[in-house]
Amino acid sequence: MNKITNHLPTAELQAIDAAHHLHPFTTGDELTQKGARIIASAKGIYLKDSEGEEILDAMAGLWCVNIGYGRDELADVAARQMRELPYYNTFFQTSHVPAIALAQKLAELAPGDLNHVFYANGGSDANDTNIRMVRTYWAEKGQPEKKTIISRWNAYHGSTIGGTSLGGMKGMHEQGDLPIPGIEFIEQPNWWAEGGDMDPEDFGLARARELEEKILEIGEDKVAAFIAEPIQGAGGVIVAPDSYWPEIQRICDKYEILLIADEVICGFGRTGNWFGSQTLDIRPDIMTVAKGLSSGYAPIGASIVSDEVAKVLEACEFNHGYTYSGHPVACAVALENLRILEEEGILEHVQNVAAPHLAEKWKSLEDHPMVGEAKIVGLMASIALTPNKETRASFAADAGTVGYITRECCFGNNLIMRHVGDRMIISPPLVITPEEIDILIERARKSLDEAYEKVR
Ligand code: PLP
Repeated sequence: MNKITNHLPTAELQAIDAAHHLHPFTTGDELTQKGARIIASAKGIYLKDSEGEEILDAMAGLWCVNIGYGRDELADVAARQMRELPYYNTFFQTSHVPAIALAQKLAELAPGDLNHVFYANGGSDANDTNIRMVRTYWAEKGQPEKKTIISRWNAYHGSTIGGTSLGGMKGMHEQGDLPIPGIEFIEQPNWWAEGGDMDPEDFGLARARELEEKILEIGEDKVAAFIAEPIQGAGGVIVAPDSYWPEIQRICDKYEILLIADEVICGFGRTGNWFGSQTLDIRPDIMTVAKGLSSGYAPIGASIVSDEVAKVLEACEFNHGYTYSGHPVACAVALENLRILEEEGILEHVQNVAAPHLAEKWKSLEDHPMVGEAKIVGLMASIALTPNKETRASFAADAGTVGYITRECCFGNNLIMRHVGDRMIISPPLVITPEEIDILIERARKSLDEAYEKVR
């Protein structure tokens, strides 16, 4: 048997991959007919594949490599921590310096009184924690019936049983008989696709008020929490109209519903602030974090919770935790990542340099015949592909196909850009420079032109 290294021919790696590696969100045909793209190394915002092609990664991996690839400091910290204390748990009244230091740092960065950190391995299991946490919270307060969680259709909150249930992806629910009981949904604030003739702000208000209607339908004494991303990421970078979040906040306050902001994508500078909740002026009781917390260099996630939620959980024994909750290597890497984000002024770079430049260039794509709205907040952005800008029509039966074709054209032009139905999305590393943004836009435009030739 050949030793598997980067030096094997691509076709051989692809064949072994297709034979033995079950991939997330990929069909067997995609692997056997075309083969996976094998990524060999990465530096800054560029990936290098097994054919030596340099690919501009406008998705920062899966929305996570905020500081860019190839930062030795994180590798050094990981190696040092592995030598000193590779593992110890945080169960049963034990702790260690990386977990303590990271919790203190997150409490400092998080808004309001979100001062307490419960560690997980990623975003999905942090959201699983949240389900148990909010239900335990209300039960401990003498309201065990207050356990329904309201989410939104087309949301993505992970792939575990809990994460998939909280998400509003119907295709995911169909696999595994989900959601679990006690999860309810309202519609998303996607004006472009669903706003019809309504003014965007009226539409935002109407969508927010669906939360109130749902609470009244279920009974306020039965609703534990509402969960949402400040800006819906994997759903297609859906930016709600300005009227939406203030109304959601009002409703959560009025009915004493815990607000869970899923910051897995929006956190750690993506929107220009540490958290999307700060950008959108949201006051969550719990935030889910992962991805940019370690810039993807080590798997780690967390629930950051308010003083009040922590007080109730600490008064009982919250019988929950993962073997790797607060893994010392992951915590040390995350801490170093936060140091780099802070000391190198990367959030300021996003706010003052990268986001304004990208916004101008991204908006310019609206002159393309196939592009409807172009949306952007910080360094997360989307365009809606449409055959008719006036009616905001979707490509109907071809929705998804058109996005897929466009994504394939991007791939051909060495640009990684994702599609969700007929929306194309980006979320580049936060360190991207104006010159690199120009290259991104040039490749995106070329890909759109090529896709347009194929579908018009
Ligand atoms: N929540 C959101 C908003 C996400 O975008 C994701 C992943 O894309 C998750 C949760 C799940 O995180 P993970 O894949 O780390 O489990």
